[in-house]
Amino acid sequence: MDKLIIVGAGLSGATLARLFADGGKDVTVVDKRATIGGNAYDYVDKNGIRVQPYGPHIFHTKEKEVFDFLSKFTEWNAYEHKVLANVKGKLVPVPFNLTSLYACFPKAKADRIKKILTEEIGVDKHVPILQLKQHENAEIREFAHFVYNNIFYKYTKKQWKMKPEDLGNAVMDRVPVYVSYEDRYFTDDYQFMPKNGFSEMITNMLRHPHIRLKLNTDAAGVLSFKDGKIYLEGKEFNGVVVYTGRVEEIFGYSFGALPYRTLKFKVKTFNRSSFQNAAVVNYTTSHRFTRITEFTKFTCGAKDKTVIVKEYPKKCKKSDMPYYPIPTEKNCAQYEKYAAEAAKYKNLYLLGRLANYKYINMDIAVLNAMKMFDKINEEYVFDEE
Ligand SMILES: Cc1cc2nc3c(=O)[nH]c(=O)nc-3n(C[C@H](O)[C@H](O)[C@H](O)COP(=O)(O)OP(=O)(O)OC[C@H]3O[C@@H](n4cnc5c(N)ncnc54)[C@H](O)[C@@H]3O)c2cc1C
Repeated sequence: MDKLIIVGAGLSGATLARLFADGGKDVTVVDKRATIGGNAYDYVDKNGIRVQPYGPHIFHTKEKEVFDFLSKFTEWNAYEHKVLANVKGKLVPVPFNLTSLYACFPKAKADRIKKILTEEIGVDKHVPILQLKQHENAEIREFAHFVYNNIFYKYTKKQWKMKPEDLGNAVMDRVPVYVSYEDRYFTDDYQFMPKNGFSEMITNMLRHPHIRLKLNTDAAGVLSFKDGKIYLEGKEFNGVVVYTGRVEEIFGYSFGALPYRTLKFKVKTFNRSSFQNAAVVNYTTSHRFTRITEFTKFTCGAKDKTVIVKEYPKKCKKSDMPYYPIPTEKNCAQYEKYAAEAAKYKNLYLLGRLANYKYINMDIAVLNAMKMFDKINEEYVFDEE
């Protein structure tokens, strides 16, 4: 193994590995899965349709640096994501915007609400639902209650088994209410899908003479951690380990498993070119699943077949894939215990969604890896290779 070991070949690990490799360092990347890309992994099925088995992934970023970096490994297709909510059988855009307002209310009432929203909140403003619910104007509060009940409440309960209020702003602020006709789900400057998928992009990142990739390799089988020292196959290891797996694994779950939500995916192929009116339809007032994604709508173009996936959220058991950290105060305090243990190891770095116990989009995974590259270079002196 090399002086630099990265656990995890997801976007966090692949970005960091590539940065070090471009700088002339030898890097070993291990992943327990048989595939690269972590949860961004995708494949083309027998009908030529690209499927994302770990849930729909759409790339968007404000960060030019991230976009420029990834553009070295893929060409892009322009793609602006649009989502509809199925509200008691009626399809309305989400984030809830002025088009949604007119779809849900009679015109005179919608005119009145629009006038108050633009006067009190402002044109083209985005406002978190929990803030809207507290507004001093009673008519805005009444409107906010409607949106809360029909868009947020049941969806959040299904997804998190918690009420929106108990989840905290970090999660709820991700989908604000728009006082505008903006119907794109994201407003970032860069909104694209990799032309040949995320797997190809990440494979290109990892294809480098300085990178050794070991798939089907669980870190637990080769690395151990004790009293501030890292051991590689039983021998003390003085190189750097960057860990992007679950932080609890490093310390034998000594402070307990950190709670996650997971998803069960039901994928289905249909012999027709289209299943629904948008790439994603959220079911905000009905059904056990939260949303249906139709992969062929992600720039694939029309085909005679289409593939959809329904997402059923559930509590994450130890044998399940941990998808969404649940960022309550209690859980974050539990995470901090692990982070404090990790800090005792001068050559151990925690990176990514699982090791940092924080939901991050793909662009932030890349950005954080770039910051980690600078940090390791500042803190660690590599022997000349
Ligand atoms: C359902 C869902 C939908 C999402 N949609 C979007 C989206 O639309 N847009 C967006 O930008 N982001 C999206 N994301 C977020 C995106 O998946 C993350 O930003 C990204 O996966 C973070 O990359 P990562 O490398 O930190 O983690 P991961 O992708 O989880 O990669 C971690 C890797 O570490 C490996 N590993 C773990 N433990 C070990 C071990 N002990 N030994 C060896 N290997 C190990 C795993 O096998 C995995 O390959 C979504 C996430 C989910 C869950």
